[in-house]
Amino acid sequence: MSAIPQPNETPRGWRTDLRDVAKLWTYLRPYRSRFFLGIAMLLLAVPLGQVAVFLTRDVTNQILNSANATVEQRWDTVVRILLIQAGLWLAGQLLSTWREVLEWYVSMRSTLDLRLRYYRHLLRLPMKDLDQRPPGEHLYRATADMVSMFRLGNRVETSTPAGQMPPDSKEVQMTYYYANDVDPFDPGVMGVLTRSAPLLVETTYALTWGGILLSLIDPMLALLLVAYIVPFAWVSQRAFNQVRFAAFDFKTEVESESAVLRDSLAGMRTLKALGRTAGQRKRFYEAAGYARRAGIRLFLELVKTQNLKQQGLRWVFTASVYLYLAKRIVDGYATVGDWVATALLLEAAQMPLQNLVQLSQLLKMQLVPIRRILGTLNLEPTIVDQPGSVAVGTLEGRLTFDGVSFEYRPGEPVIRDLNLELKPGEHLGVVGPSGAGKSSLVSLALRLYDPAAGAVRVDGKDLREVQLDSYLNQVASVSQLTYLYPGTIEDNIRFGKPDATAEEVDAAIQAAGVADFLKDHPLGLQTDIGEVGSLSGGERQRIGIARALVRNPRILFMDEATASLDPTTEAKILGVVEEIRPGRTILTIAHRLKAVVACDRIIVLENGEIRQSGTHQELVNQAGLYRELWLGQARETA
Ligand code: ADP
Repeated sequence: MSAIPQPNETPRGWRTDLRDVAKLWTYLRPYRSRFFLGIAMLLLAVPLGQVAVFLTRDVTNQILNSANATVEQRWDTVVRILLIQAGLWLAGQLLSTWREVLEWYVSMRSTLDLRLRYYRHLLRLPMKDLDQRPPGEHLYRATADMVSMFRLGNRVETSTPAGQMPPDSKEVQMTYYYANDVDPFDPGVMGVLTRSAPLLVETTYALTWGGILLSLIDPMLALLLVAYIVPFAWVSQRAFNQVRFAAFDFKTEVESESAVLRDSLAGMRTLKALGRTAGQRKRFYEAAGYARRAGIRLFLELVKTQNLKQQGLRWVFTASVYLYLAKRIVDGYATVGDWVATALLLEAAQMPLQNLVQLSQLLKMQLVPIRRILGTLNLEPTIVDQPGSVAVGTLEGRLTFDGVSFEYRPGEPVIRDLNLELKPGEHLGVVGPSGAGKSSLVSLALRLYDPAAGAVRVDGKDLREVQLDSYLNQVASVSQLTYLYPGTIEDNIRFGKPDATAEEVDAAIQAAGVADFLKDHPLGLQTDIGEVGSLSGGERQRIGIARALVRNPRILFMDEATASLDPTTEAKILGVVEEIRPGRTILTIAHRLKAVVACDRIIVLENGEIRQSGTHQELVNQAGLYRELWLGQARETA
């Protein structure tokens, strides 16, 4: 399976590239004085180094030329020039080193800013956008794409995404290590600016200086240099796009490959239990095959450009220069000093030319992750507090679905023009077949998504017009699958309310039945979830319930929250829900009707619409889906 690149992420030419680079500049702006200081140092360091090289001509000629001076005079001149050379070289080196330090500082800081901004952005993105890609892909962008240095021992916790793998509560949590090829000098995506800009300046500037100094030796040499650089730059530029497309394909395929790997690890139990390891292996082999072929294409493009075209040109150029100069010396128009200085200047010009290659490679490679990172960064967070939105204050607890329609994918409605009101203090049960849209109701009530039409209101206020946090702080939800974060059981419960008192935590663990299984773990609340490794589905679920209860919510959503519990624990927790009910609005989604019999009202949802509504007794007494379900479950129990 090959990941489908998002339309806004494929490389599209230099205009888009320029826009991308301009966007990156915003992350560099806070460090611009250091950035430009670095470039100014380059402007000094380059000529210092080159003039030092050029002076070799005079040293050589002094050493060889015995005609007009005594040995002492010649020796004095040689020592003087050598000292000047050493001074120039040292000054150039100091400047270069300082410049590198500045470059590193700017590159690290701006990359860090970019990473923080990226993470903040991910947290702000609506579920609608996050759903577009499996977590493995988001992960790749936030780590490997950002800067390869971070691949080393980067520990990332991830969870099985809904819809990617059959959810299996024990597999939800996994640890993910990157240990790919690590280049500690890789400047990461910000390198497009922090590395490339100085490289570009250094290259043009060094070649200009090289040209000027060569023309002092013989103008023809400078002409030859120009005759070399022009086709060299042309060849490199032409190869640029081919290599870039190949690099984009390669990255995309590698990303798909890691996504398969990640999903396999996350869903290993399910894979094994279903006997699907062979099938998954085939998927991985396929993905790895695509990645390998894309890698080979990239490699061939690079070889074609570098080894054949660029090296070939270099060979022709070097041969012409030496041939020309040798003829000039033989004819008596040039000195051996000219020869030595030319050789050294050409040697020195190799470095900037090499840089030119490095620069185009760097751009080729880095523009790809930049496109992908910006692909995510450019998504507009649509679920954010509007200007002028107000805090809700203490909730009364009235929740209204007002003509709500909703769809995940265009043209596939999941909720259809639904009108429903939960009164403060009401306990509403929601039942219905799988896929009826029950969980989607809760997602809308938590504003994980916005409805396509109509409004979800709390105490009469449209959720889109209130400060979301002020509302969510008074709400709790328990889903079918509790995600546990790395840390202790207590950490996970406190995740619901970090400033909870010890008494509040204790009350929550008693009510949720966590206390009942804590005695099996010697460390109790301090048991590390990662180390236990094998909390049962029911235990995890009870931690999830405690996490919700500790929030003391005004509105509580229970989405199949007790489905994985044994009947005794389930009955106990249902009793607790009834106990805490006064003053709270509760919405319980359940498949096992036992969980809703005590509700004030139950609705039967089918195909996104309310088909039946009433108390348990009323619904059992009328023909319909509820009665069928009830009779069916009663027969099973019997
Ligand atoms: P229920 O809780 O009644 O089983 P859901 O509300 O979970 O139903 O799902 C309703 C429909 O929406 C189903 O067809 C389901 O496949 C689809 N659906 C649920 N979540 C997503 C999602 N994140 N992206 C796309 N479709 C989804």
